[in-house]
Amino acid sequence: MSAQLPPPRLEVRALGRVFDGRAVVDDVSFAIPAGQVTCLLGPSGCGKSTTLRLIAGVDMQDTGEIYVDGKLICDTVFRIPPEQRAIGLMFQDFALFPHLTVAENIAFGLKGDSAAKRARVTELLGKVRLTRHRDSYPHGLSGGEQQRVALARALAPRPRILLMDEPFSGLDERLRDDIRDETLALLKEENTAVLLVTHEPHEAMRMADEILLMRGGKIVQRGAPYNLYNAPVDRAAAAFFSDVNVLKGQVKDALTETAFGDFLTPGHADGTEIDIVIRPQHLKIDFDRAGRGPAPTPQDGTPARGVVERARFLGRESLVEFRMDFDGTILRASVPNVFLPKPGTPMWLMIRRDRCFVFPAKGAGA
Ligand code: ADP
Ligand code: MG
Repeated sequence: MSAQLPPPRLEVRALGRVFDGRAVVDDVSFAIPAGQVTCLLGPSGCGKSTTLRLIAGVDMQDTGEIYVDGKLICDTVFRIPPEQRAIGLMFQDFALFPHLTVAENIAFGLKGDSAAKRARVTELLGKVRLTRHRDSYPHGLSGGEQQRVALARALAPRPRILLMDEPFSGLDERLRDDIRDETLALLKEENTAVLLVTHEPHEAMRMADEILLMRGGKIVQRGAPYNLYNAPVDRAAAAFFSDVNVLKGQVKDALTETAFGDFLTPGHADGTEIDIVIRPQHLKIDFDRAGRGPAPTPQDGTPARGVVERARFLGRESLVEFRMDFDGTILRASVPNVFLPKPGTPMWLMIRRDRCFVFPAKGAGA
């Protein structure tokens, strides 16, 4: 007996959209199964909202196809209108109807008899913890409560797919993580396929089963949050998720020499300019040798000396900036808790080689 996998809930193939001769969405393909949250992540202007609008059917692609449950709903000729796509939408501004109560807002897109509608509204009011606000109007609610009404309204008709465009960016920063977690729990319960657009890596890491990293209209990397963070495809992808330090070097005999020792750089021709990219938490201060001479440690490479430029306390961690002796490069180390050495203090640093990313420098090679 062979188990037949159902087709993905949402699939787009080679989607493209051109504005004024520029490919704003460029050969975008992906699939989302039911129950999965996929985040389309990228800087402002990279084409995220345009991608969403094509899937919603409020804009028309120039190339490519869109499938729901394996059925074509839109190509460049054939097109099912937006209201027949069973796709729910949720935007940054929530767009609640001000003259309708919370219950009426949630019921707005529901069809069927009034007893069934009422039951669904009651169920969702409970799930978003707004039962006591059933007859309130949106203007009397907090931002977080309005967000929950918008979410309940989008989910009420049990959409096959939910598209969310920056749905938390209008909220108070302090509330956002709690609301993200609540939202995620509800989305999982409803088992819909979710495409969530965001420019915030923290949000994508917190919510996504899969991240699609977008840049200049193209998806440059896709995978689980862990993979994008720990195996970025290039320097820009690494830098999108945190501050990064960069050491420069040149390949010679498959090695790149730095003040921290040699790095393996196989597959690059001699003379290739290399960026060695290190997140601040992977730069280690060698406290055993602080201020004293280094002893070589093969696992950690060679320690290199720098002098504290400044140190700042950021709450969970301290960020210490060093000016390195070898060529004046500034490196930033993130140290847990409180560590605030005085400017001018000399210290030895090491880098976690297994956590470094090695890329050909921009403009050099592919
Ligand atoms: P994002 O949501 O990632 O910030 P958008 O998809 O909104 O980006 O926009 C991508 C690019 O396409 C931007 O440069 C934007 O100015 C352009 N753009 C979006 N919509 C239109 C339009 N209707 N006409 C012309 N250019 C557009
Ligand atoms: Mg946008």
